[in-house]
Amino acid sequence: MTHETTPTERRAAWGILPSEWKAVCQELGLPGFRATQILTGLYQNFATSWSEITTLSKELREKLAQHIELEPLRTATISDSPDGVQKLLLECSDGECIESVMIPSKDRMTQCISTQVGCNFRCAFCASGQYGKTRNLTAAEIVGQVMAACAIMRSKQTTSAEGALLPGKKPQQRAGGAFELPRPGNIVVMGMGEPFDNYDNVLRALRILNDQRGINIGARHITLSTCGVVPGIQRLAEEGIQFELSVSLHAPDNALRNQIMPVNTRWPIEELIETCRHYFEKTGRVVTFEYTLVRQLNDRPAHAQALIALLRRLPCKVNLIPLSPVDGFAGERPDDCDCLNFLDALLKAKINTTLRKSRGKDVNAACGQLRLAMRKPDAH
Ligand code: SAH
Repeated sequence: MTHETTPTERRAAWGILPSEWKAVCQELGLPGFRATQILTGLYQNFATSWSEITTLSKELREKLAQHIELEPLRTATISDSPDGVQKLLLECSDGECIESVMIPSKDRMTQCISTQVGCNFRCAFCASGQYGKTRNLTAAEIVGQVMAACAIMRSKQTTSAEGALLPGKKPQQRAGGAFELPRPGNIVVMGMGEPFDNYDNVLRALRILNDQRGINIGARHITLSTCGVVPGIQRLAEEGIQFELSVSLHAPDNALRNQIMPVNTRWPIEELIETCRHYFEKTGRVVTFEYTLVRQLNDRPAHAQALIALLRRLPCKVNLIPLSPVDGFAGERPDDCDCLNFLDALLKAKINTTLRKSRGKDVNAACGQLRLAMRKPDAH
C-alpha cells in the first residue's frame, strides 16, 4: 500500500480504506478489533488527531501517531457568498493550496472537491489549467477536503450532540447507535484538476467517502467530472460502483472542441461519445454532459442543433453552464435569452437538460479561480 505522490513518509489515515484497517493494525502489532475503534473515531466522531480517540489507550494513540499521519488540511481562507456558497482555500502540508466549494441547498450540502494542484489539460476558459499541473493530490488530501467541510458544518451546528445534517433535518441513527453527524450529502469532483489523470488516488478517496464505515455518502450522490479522458471512462465502467459520471463537452464538433479543449485532439468527439455509450450499456448509468455556454463561441442556435444531432441516440442528460468569466480568456458570458433559447431547443428535442444557475460568482467559485486570484501578486 504505497502512495507514490504522498509528500510525507508516513502513511496518512484518511488514505486508508476501511477494509484495510484490520491489516494496518496487524502490521503495527495491534489486534484487529482496534480497526473498528479507529474507524469510529475517524468517521463518526471526526477526530482530527490521534489524541482525540480516547477509546484507545495513550500508548496506542502514541504508536498510531508515530506511524500514521492524521492531520487536517489547514483552512487558509473561507470566502462567503451572500447566496450561502462558501469557497474554501485549503493548505496541504507542503504549502500547496487547493480549493473546495460548499454549496448548500434546502435539504443537503453539496461539496465540490479538487483532485490535483493545477491541471494539465488547459481548457480555454478554465483557471485551473493556466499554470499547468503541480502535482496529484493524495487520497488523504481528497478525503481531507470533505473532513474540512464536515468540521465547518459541525461548527455551525446549533443543535445538541446528536446532530442534524442541516437545520430542520432529523438526525439518522447509524448501526451501533451513533447519530449521523453533519456531512455533505453530495460530492461533485469538479474542482481543480482532472480526476482521470489521478485515477488511483481519486477512486481510493471516493471509496472511502462512499464506504458505510467511512464517510458514508451514497455512490449515486458522488459525481465524477472528466474533460474526456477516454481510458478513465473505460476503467470506471469496469469498477462495479455506481458513481455518477459527467463529461465536459462544451462543443458539438471536433473543430470547435479542439479550439476550446486540447484534450479533444487526443480523444475526439466520436470516440468520446462511443465510450459514453459503452459506459451506459455497461453500468446502466446515464452520462451527463456539461456544456459551458460562451457568448457567440458555442451558444448559437446552430450549435444547439449540432449538439442535438450528436446526442440524439444516446440516453444522456445535458447541464448548461453560463461561462464564469476568467482572466486570460477573452470569452464572455452569454445573454440570458441565448441561454434560454439553447435550453429550449434541447428540451424540444427531448434531451433532458438543465440550465445551471451560477452560484458563488462573487467568491470566484469557478474551477481554479480562487487559487489563481490568490497567487496573482507573484504570478506575473
Ligand atoms: N477536469 C474536470 C473537472 C474540473 S472542471 C472536467 O473538465 O470536467 C469542472 C467543470 O467546470 C467543467 O465542466 C469545466 O469545463 C467547468 N468550468 C471550468 N471553468 C469554467 C468557467 N470559467 N466557467 C464555467 N464553467 C467552467
